[in-house]
Amino acid sequence: MLSYTDNYRHKGLRSQLISSLRHKGIQDERVLKAMSKIPRHFFLDEAFAEWAYRDTAFPIAAGQTISQPFTVARQSELLNIRRRDKVLEIGTGSGYQACVLHQMGAKVYTIERQEELFKKTSTLLPKIGFNGVRTLMGDGYEGAERFAPFDKILVTAASNIIPKSLVKQLRKGGIMVIPVGNGNDQQMMKIVKKGEQMEIQQHGTYRFVPMLGGVASEAGNV
Ligand code: SAH
Repeated sequence: MLSYTDNYRHKGLRSQLISSLRHKGIQDERVLKAMSKIPRHFFLDEAFAEWAYRDTAFPIAAGQTISQPFTVARQSELLNIRRRDKVLEIGTGSGYQACVLHQMGAKVYTIERQEELFKKTSTLLPKIGFNGVRTLMGDGYEGAERFAPFDKILVTAASNIIPKSLVKQLRKGGIMVIPVGNGNDQQMMKIVKKGEQMEIQQHGTYRFVPMLGGVASEAGNV
């Protein structure tokens, strides 16, 4: 049985991580405050608790990664989250990013295509006090039509394109943050939906695991 304890050592390491994020240019205090409250080590296997407070990505189940803290902070900052924003995240992974947005007061829906991860994270979140995050299993390219429109959409896997279905599920004036590119590196794009038009800004180079189509069941791809 895992015990979820957040001791002084974890808290100390976390506050150092938050200072380093500030130093690296994260300015949104609401993001920093949310990240300072969430024990990131709850999202990694217990043996790797020490790694949770380094500013690096880290492997989780099913060949996927928990994003680097700086990347989580930057994507959250670009979304300009307001309390009660309805947010769709593509790529639940460990669930950490979804919990950061929830902690900031957003109503979060998050989609994962890998069944193993979906089950693991859906079980974890209520245990650590995040039962308000709604986890969905499915192909993020399709979004979550039944809960649309969203104020914000966050994609946490690399896409070759800006998926039209996701733009469609964004409300007018809504913001989508998505890493776009077909090589190893992607450009972080912030898209503001203005009626039929989109305003697109680029915010630097990042490296994500690929956004794949379809779903993957534990028995193999279907
Ligand atoms: N946000 C995560 C990081 C996830 S890594 C965290 O905080 O830990 C990217 C995740 O996107 C992986 O778990 C991967 O399985 C998932 N993914 C890739 N393509 C997807 C798709 N089409 N729909 C939903 N999830 C997808």
